[in-house]
Amino acid sequence: MKALVAVKRVVDYNVRVRIKPDQTGVVLDNVKMSLNPFDEIALEEAMRLKEAGVVTEVIAVSIGKTETQESLRQSLAFGADRAILIETQESFRSLQVAKVLKHIALEEKADVVFLGKQAIDDDNNQTAQMLAGLLDWPQACFASKVVYKEGTWEVTREVDGGLETLALQTPCVISTDLRLNTPRFITLPNIMKAKQKPLKVIPVQELNLDLKSQQNITQVTAPKPKPPGIKLDSVEALVEKLKTELKS
Ligand code: AMP
Repeated sequence: MKALVAVKRVVDYNVRVRIKPDQTGVVLDNVKMSLNPFDEIALEEAMRLKEAGVVTEVIAVSIGKTETQESLRQSLAFGADRAILIETQESFRSLQVAKVLKHIALEEKADVVFLGKQAIDDDNNQTAQMLAGLLDWPQACFASKVVYKEGTWEVTREVDGGLETLALQTPCVISTDLRLNTPRFITLPNIMKAKQKPLKVIPVQELNLDLKSQQNITQVTAPKPKPPGIKLDSVEALVEKLKTELKS
């Protein structure tokens, strides 16, 4: 059973994001980049399934610039058996990413594709759904528990007011939610081992896919700065303020 895990290199969640002066995007120069946190959860789940004997090979795949190799080495240090970078200088939108992932999933004959529920940079939350649609494979998004039993994936999802459990046939697409697991720490020996593992770089043009973008980002703006907070001396003063200034 082959598991493909889609991992995206994103601005680290601790970084204070700055908008470029020309408002075409965010500043990425000299900014700390990391694996998308939801993708670490996806990798962890694939690794646990491998350790449980369900999955035999874990392949990490990313679509991005040359520097993304660093994130893929991190995925290998996490435990993935090999990695594939589909190299592009363009910043792809979800549908383009989903088309590339479809190609790799079919070429690799993946049995299951794990993705994060959302990349924390663009917050699109749609690549897994698009990929499942393009492949015409069953999907379970926002997984909080994944069990494989006798050819069927049982995926539990947190929904309003409770839990929903879906049964999916292989091959399928699963996107991971925050509470699915706690990703392991990467150890130094595993970082050393990762250097020897295969990382294949394929220029995106070699895939011969129609990856014309259907969207243009017209403007990126920063949120309005919040007015600073104030300190009041008493509850009475707070009540007064609520009555007079915030009554609407
Ligand atoms: P999104 O739909 O953009 O919020 O992303 C959801 C998930 O799709 C991410 O958590 C990744 O697993 C995957 N994904 C998005 N963009 C990429 C990319 N450039 N390379 C690899 N995986 C990606």
